[in-house]
Amino acid sequence: MSEIYEKWLREYIRVEKDPRSLRTRPCPSCGQPALRLLFVVHKTDRSIGWAKFWCDNCRKGVFFSRVSVPDWGERVTMEERRAVPSEELPGYEIIPPTTYSD
Ligand SMILES: [Zn+2]
Repeated sequence: MSEIYEKWLREYIRVEKDPRSLRTRPCPSCGQPALRLLFVVHKTDRSIGWAKFWCDNCRKGVFFSRVSVPDWGERVTMEERRAVPSEELPGYEIIPPTTYSD
């Protein structure tokens, strides 16, 4: 596992335990407190989804599939997602779990 991915993973676990820290924690990649977390869910089952966890400042982040969505999680369904403006749900560079140099 790459070091940077591990940092993001640790940050995700921390935020899951303490959601209020999301706005204050520094980004693992650039150090700015600009982290965002959004869960994309099926409209039929809002408890399982894809976690999009990224930084609004450097537009880097990670992506986890089939995670259980916490009660406090900000959700968007796959249908709604198409209607979400791109500034709300920007594209970002996905940090892979491993790199070729590992
Ligand atoms: Zn950043």
